[in-house]
Amino acid sequence: MAGLAIGVQLLNVRHATREAESARLLDISRYVSENLTRQLDGLNKTLTNIKRDYRDSVFSASSADSSRQLHLLTDAIQAVSGLAVYDANGTAVASDRDSDVGKDFFSQEFFTAVRRRPDPNVLYLSRPSASDDERVALHLSRAIFNTSGQFTGVVSATLDEEFFAFTVRSALFAPDMRATLVHPDGAIFVTVPKIEGRRPVNVATPGSAFVDHVVNKRKRTVFEGLVAVTGRERLLVLTSVQSPELGLDNTIVFAVSREKSAVYAPWYHQVRIYVSLYLAVLLMATALRLFERRRRRKLLQQEEVAQAALRLSASRLERALDGAQLGLWELHVDSRQLQLDARGARMLGYEESNMVRSTQEWTQTLHQDDQAVNIAAFAAHLKGDTPVYENEFRVEVKDGGYVWLFSRGKVTERAQTGAPLRVIGTFMDVSARKANEAALAEATLLQKLSGEIAQIGGWAVEVPSGVSRWTEEVYRIHDLDPVDAPDLSNALDFYTEEFKPVISAAIAKGMQDGTPWDLELQIVSAKGRLVWVRAQGAAICQGGTIVRLAGALQDITSRKQAALELQRLNAALSELSYQDALTGVGNRRLFDEALSAEWGRNARRGSMLALLMIDVDYFKRFNDHHGHLGGDECLRQVANVLRDTLRRSHERAMRYGGEEFAILLPETSVEGASLVALRILSAMAAAQIPHGASPVSPWVTLSIGVAGVMPTVDAKPSMLTRFADMALYQAKAQGRARLATYEDVEQK
Ligand code: GH3
Ligand code: MG
Ligand code: MG
Repeated sequence: MAGLAIGVQLLNVRHATREAESARLLDISRYVSENLTRQLDGLNKTLTNIKRDYRDSVFSASSADSSRQLHLLTDAIQAVSGLAVYDANGTAVASDRDSDVGKDFFSQEFFTAVRRRPDPNVLYLSRPSASDDERVALHLSRAIFNTSGQFTGVVSATLDEEFFAFTVRSALFAPDMRATLVHPDGAIFVTVPKIEGRRPVNVATPGSAFVDHVVNKRKRTVFEGLVAVTGRERLLVLTSVQSPELGLDNTIVFAVSREKSAVYAPWYHQVRIYVSLYLAVLLMATALRLFERRRRRKLLQQEEVAQAALRLSASRLERALDGAQLGLWELHVDSRQLQLDARGARMLGYEESNMVRSTQEWTQTLHQDDQAVNIAAFAAHLKGDTPVYENEFRVEVKDGGYVWLFSRGKVTERAQTGAPLRVIGTFMDVSARKANEAALAEATLLQKLSGEIAQIGGWAVEVPSGVSRWTEEVYRIHDLDPVDAPDLSNALDFYTEEFKPVISAAIAKGMQDGTPWDLELQIVSAKGRLVWVRAQGAAICQGGTIVRLAGALQDITSRKQAALELQRLNAALSELSYQDALTGVGNRRLFDEALSAEWGRNARRGSMLALLMIDVDYFKRFNDHHGHLGGDECLRQVANVLRDTLRRSHERAMRYGGEEFAILLPETSVEGASLVALRILSAMAAAQIPHGASPVSPWVTLSIGVAGVMPTVDAKPSMLTRFADMALYQAKAQGRARLATYEDVEQK
């Protein structure tokens, strides 16, 4: 489009260039033709004067004088190479050239043309003809008439081409220009610059601009095209040189032309500039378009990347919220609209992906008791009093009832004035925690009630401040009013003189190595009541240091009294029984009776009687380490191992005393007894009863003394016991967790 505009513009410029140049050539032509006319007019006057001289004295005057006069005139008039007067028959009567006088010129064209149509008002111009010296010559002639109006002769001037050349040359202002003077029949009078070595052509070629100009008798013609003289493309202006005063018989034509390429050189230059500018602009536009397209593509890519990042962070936020089970809310302060995301809506029982409520609607859905607090908390944050808004409240859910929400938010956008515009926050459903809290309160109440029933109280002492807390039951046990709990040393003062050191030692040890205590002790209450208590406690550590002592205190007076009673009763009973009360195996009384019975029986039969004396290794340490009750339990387990090992035989394990057991093996050799002992040792190893303080094993081990004798009626049964004891001593001495036989003892 721009290209088209430029093209049209350039064509306009080309047209203007042609117009301007044509105008210039026309001006020049006018000037030249005026000058030529003036020149011809001057010559015409000369011819008229000569003619007048010859009108009456018809060639009677001395020809020699006339010729001399003409000779002088010829010399005087520049570019006139000759002047001559001819009589009616064409014979030269006077001439500047003496040799021509008397010669016949009748058939010469310049003479014939006048004689054929003699006219006193016409100036005759002949066709140019090549003169003797190859120069172009032409004749300007007038007819001479006598007084009676009869044609009597011709006066004629021979013009050298130089006659016109000067004037014609004056038209040239540029090296590419050509100016030519042409006879109407196409013959060239003069053309400048000169065409070297070539005869002037006839320009009256059919269809040419020149012919058109002459035939149509035009005054002026502007033509652009192939020109005959040069055979080149030129801008040509033809002008007819004519003047009414002169009365020329033929209108001569002045042609001035310029090389087209020269005429249009500035235009071509402009075209080149325009085209190159246009191309440059085009190129730049294309480059810009490409650049713009690339830039747009890049922007698009950036946009996509940003979008992807946004999606990613959105999905990351989504996942985070999802993982934390948080609902998202957003408050637009100006429009007072609260927006909830899908998770937030779901907490309220709605399946909306984006729930919008006015703040007023929202407040109304809050539990009545929570509304004022929430409004205040929010207002405080908006005012800038709190760095974050945080509150817990109940909100009505879709199907009725309430959920507890913990809401937390922050102003994320403010106007330039500082006024908050947007608040973003999260919801967390804390109903479960609230329920737990309620349950805990209930449990505390239950604990209190059950404490009262079981007569168990709780207590705690902070370390090192010594601040104590007692539950109601502890106060009751001490017969104290529940005001401030006594500190630790005051509390210890309630214990009897017998038990005060026990509890103090237990607490000291607990604080030293973390051992918990569980003791049955006596206190004297504030009212002087003697109370049996089970005192349990432990030191509580946090990060390696003891921060608190805490425990339970139970009134066990009634149980203790019953237990003591039971103990006394059991003791009485066991004295009458053969069963060991602790382990359930036979007791010492059974052993004594069995031994004397078997002794007699085997003596009578003459068979061997064997005895295993079994003693628990390092049992004192066991008691010290695991406690006395643990020791009792251990003895029960050991008894079970013995019972299980002997299950298939009729042999029985009996508790000999303390941590010692005895097994009587009638009709058994020492070897046989040793096998039984070995079975017991391996069964014991398999039982893996932990012993935290034994130097020989992590488990409880046994040492067994094996002895066998042939009983005689005379001998005392205690002999077997003595031998077995000695073997047991041997096993202990050899490192424990093994058996030794009385034979081994004898060999030593
Ligand atoms: P050794 O390996 O030399 O046998 O060392 P020991 O500690 O086992 O032997 P010691 O005779 O020095 O200690 C026996 C301990 O057994 C002393 C006593 O307190 C404890 N004991 C005795 N009868 C009972 C009981 O019925 N229950 C508990 N728990 N301990 C008892
Ligand atoms: Mg022992
Ligand atoms: Mg012992």
